This record gives sequence, C-alpha cells and structure tokens, in this order.
Amino acid sequence: MSTPATAGHDAGQTSVPAPAAGWHAGPAGLPAGAWAAGPGPAGLPAGAWAAGPGPAGRENLVLELVQVTKTYPGSPPVPALRGVSFAVAAGELVAVVGPSGSGKSTLLHLMGTLDKPTTGTVRVTGLDIAALSDPELSGLRASSIGFVFQQFFLAEHQTTLGNVADALLYVGAGLAERRQGAAVALGRVGLGRKLTARPTQLSGGERQRVAIARALAGHPAIVLADEPTGNLDQATGQSILDLLAELHADGATIIVVTHDQAIAARMPRQITMLDGRITADTAPRPATPWPDEGGERLAARPGQPPLTPQEPQP
Ligand code: ADP
Ligand code: MG
Repeated sequence: MSTPATAGHDAGQTSVPAPAAGWHAGPAGLPAGAWAAGPGPAGLPAGAWAAGPGPAGRENLVLELVQVTKTYPGSPPVPALRGVSFAVAAGELVAVVGPSGSGKSTLLHLMGTLDKPTTGTVRVTGLDIAALSDPELSGLRASSIGFVFQQFFLAEHQTTLGNVADALLYVGAGLAERRQGAAVALGRVGLGRKLTARPTQLSGGERQRVAIARALAGHPAIVLADEPTGNLDQATGQSILDLLAELHADGATIIVVTHDQAIAARMPRQITMLDGRITADTAPRPATPWPDEGGERLAARPGQPPLTPQEPQP
C-alpha cells in the first residue's frame, strides 16, 4: 500500500528540497542550505578530518545509513523511511530508484545532511551527522557533498565560470584558485569553451553540465543527483548519463535518485525503494559497526548477510 501524499508536498517525480525553516537561497540561486555559508572543514570537530573515512581496516565508506527512519510530524504522522540501511564506498555509482512517494527525496535530504533522521544513524565520510551542529553540517556539505538537481539552479546573472567558482567560496579557496578550479571542472564536463556564457545562452544539457561541474569543483566525497535528466529530452538525458558514467570511471562517487527504471538500469548498482523501505540492492554493502556502537546491534560482520530493511525496534 502506498503512503498517501501530503497536501502541498511534491509527491511527484520532482524532488527539490522543499523550502523549510533555515533554508535560504545561496549565491548561485540554489534552493537550500546546501550552499549555506558556514565554516569550512576547519569548523568541524578537531581530528574529524584527519581521521578520514573511519578506523583502520574499514572499507572506504563515504556514506553509511544504519536503520534510518524518518517520520514527518502530522495527524497522522507520515513514516517516510521505515528502517533503511546501506553503505556506499568511494568510487561507486549508485541509483536509488522507486516510485513517487517511496521516500527517495527524504532519503536524499538525509544523505545530503539537509535533514536528520528520526532514528538511526547517517554517517557521511565517517561523521555521524546527528552529532554535528548546523555550522558543522554546513561545513561538511560544502567540503564533502555536491548536489545536482533536476532544475539546475544556476544563477542567471553569472557566467558559467562564476556559477562554478562560487561553489568554492565555502571551501576557503581564494578568487584565483576558485576560478582555476571552476575552469578545470567545466573542462571536465565538456564546457571548456563556454566559460563566459550565461545560463540563458546555454541549452538544457549544457546547463546541467554546468551544475555538474559546480557539484564536482570542490572534489566532494559524494555527488548526489536528484532526477538529473528529468528536465531534458531523451538524447540530452543520455549524454548527461554518459557524462556521469565518465566521471564515475574517473573515480567520482555518485548517487543518482530517480523514478525511472531505465535510468537506474544503466548504473552499476541499484537500490530499489518502496514505501520507505529498501526492497532490493544489487550490490549490498553493509555499514560496519564502529567500536563505540555495539556491533551486535548493527549486525554487520564480514561473512554475514547484509543488513535487511526492518521495522525499527520499539
Ligand atoms: P519520493 O521522493 O520517492 O516521491 P518523498 O520522500 O518525497 O518520496 O515522500 C515520501 C513520503 O513522505 C510521502 O508519503 C510524502 O508525502 C511524505 N513527505 C515527504 N516530505 C514530507 C514533509 N515535509 N511533510 C510531510 N510529509 C512528507
Ligand atoms: Mg521525490
């Protein structure tokens, strides 16, 4: 049975984060705290970055969700995620696929540290997001997560170079460094000759390439792409998927959220969602217990079956 859509909420295929308290447009017109100013990595707890992705011996996991639930308040409350566990290693290209209302956007917000789980644990580059303050989360997002949205969200008054360079403001780079990093990223997506163009002078596919360059410019640990071809015609969409595959081959870690089975089928790994649960994962990679976390509870040991979606324990 499908969870009923909430009035006023976009339960369709579009999954832009809804404006919420504390969200404000970033310098590039982005919708979200994704680009909210805040301290860079230096603002994070001491040692957090030096520690890297986790204790020695762990896989290089950049994202881990352990029994994550998210329930939106209301009468009745809406259980959007009902116990989701998976992990993503550096260098993976993963599709999260499911029909409207299955919880994809909710999951994207949690993976992007734009929201926190009701219960369960979300770790990004080994950091438990529940333990971080808002400024620390902003720093983590700026340094470790790149966002690509269906609607591109480019600043119309800025050149392509400016759009991408602005994304590096929050990682503490100086102007020359930002512009150089932006030019490199734009070259990587095939727009090296369009540095001075404005978004209005670009095709939809080119705009999305700018958005992808912006997401990649800071060398994030994870790129989250929400229906990245949703506003593009078929052929242009294919070229964007080809680009994502190339970037993956180059080592980028990319998670694509989509309702489209055909798009998901092109990704090496597909995580299928239905009614707030994972119903299939073609390459399960369990989150591993951390020393301070009671290994039995997380039930993920070498040689054991992966975590399976379960109702949260009462
Ligand atoms: P999808 O992106 O797969 O369409 P969502 O994560 O948007 O799924 O939604 C999952 C469920 O949670 C749906 O029933 C939706 O109506 C509900 N939901 C999503 N966001 C909110 C919100 N902010 N408040 C209340 N209910 C919400
Ligand atoms: Mg959605």
